Amino acid sequence: MSKRKRSRKEQKVYTIHWPILLGLTALLVAVVLLMVGVVRACALPGDALTASETPEPIIAAPTRSPIPVDVNFTKVHRTTVNVFFPDEGEIREMLLEEYLMGVVSGEMPASYSLEAVKAQAVAARTYTLYSIQHGGCKTNPKADICTSSSCCQTYNSEKREHDKWGAQYAYYHSVIAKAVMDTAGEVMLYNGKVIDAMYHGASGGWTENSENVYTNAIPYLRSVESAHEIGSRQTGQVTFDRPAFVERVNGARPNAHMTLENLESQIKTLSLYPSGRVEKLQLGEDVITGKTARKIFGLDSAMFTVELTDTQVIFHTKGFGHGVGMSQAGANGMAADGADYKTILTHYYTGAADRRIRHLSGRGPGPLHGGPGAPRSFFARKKR
Ligand SMILES: [Zn+2]
Repeated sequence: MSKRKRSRKEQKVYTIHWPILLGLTALLVAVVLLMVGVVRACALPGDALTASETPEPIIAAPTRSPIPVDVNFTKVHRTTVNVFFPDEGEIREMLLEEYLMGVVSGEMPASYSLEAVKAQAVAARTYTLYSIQHGGCKTNPKADICTSSSCCQTYNSEKREHDKWGAQYAYYHSVIAKAVMDTAGEVMLYNGKVIDAMYHGASGGWTENSENVYTNAIPYLRSVESAHEIGSRQTGQVTFDRPAFVERVNGARPNAHMTLENLESQIKTLSLYPSGRVEKLQLGEDVITGKTARKIFGLDSAMFTVELTDTQVIFHTKGFGHGVGMSQAGANGMAADGADYKTILTHYYTGAADRRIRHLSGRGPGPLHGGPGAPRSFFARKKR
């Protein structure tokens, strides 16, 4: 194609499209002017937007400045733990407080009050040492503990923290660091021994006696009031259509022989614990515990009521988790009311005391050193 020919063709294209473009522009301007006019005409003086019409603010909340904290893990003590990471399939030797950073971050919302996060740091440290003293990780016998929540304790990597917190990362990470470093080496003891520091999301108003959830009555895991709770998932609801409910019951408990007819007469709460959690529930010809009901119906907690509508069976739950030991939402509520972390811990762990174990990495007798059940790997590394 010659240069001249191409130039003529380009010119032809312009002469065809200019009028259309101008026409479209004029039409667009006219439409915009018309819309502005309509909006102005409708916005009468004194008109107020209702709450549901209020647009979401498009400006993000300001990022808070990180709390100053000295994150020097080896400065406090040099206790190390062998942590198994199932996803990577590897065991890493980590400093105890470094490991706890990921645990506290994974186990409690960093938006909770600092004193509540500190209580969580002590509870997680105590739980970790108790686990090590009682056989370590069940999934990997070579590890002290693992990062699976179903086996040991949840663990958040820094990458996961970045994904979760985004622009708030620096601030939330500093909250966790402050909580861990300010309580470094502190654990809960009962009669001089590290306690089984169980914890859960929300109690629904009262925590539970250990024997009502597990087998043993443990003196420091008593039901206590947790009147003021601040946190997510404090109440929940699980709904089944009537046929699906009957199928679920008979699938899990064949002896129930539940039928769709007269369903109301086949469901009955037989007894409650003083905390308000269900002790026994009648389902058809079978009787189950509240704990079993949690598993069968996927309930947030054993503190529940059952409602039957014309077509559905609805479980209304209060609290989140097993209810034993420290309530995290309760800790947050207590912190909001001015309690410090030691007050929170001694409230939920009856008769236990918070102690800083100064010789975690040093010499001399102490609750974590020597004696039967002491983890060999733990003490073998203590002098580093
Ligand atoms: Zn484990």
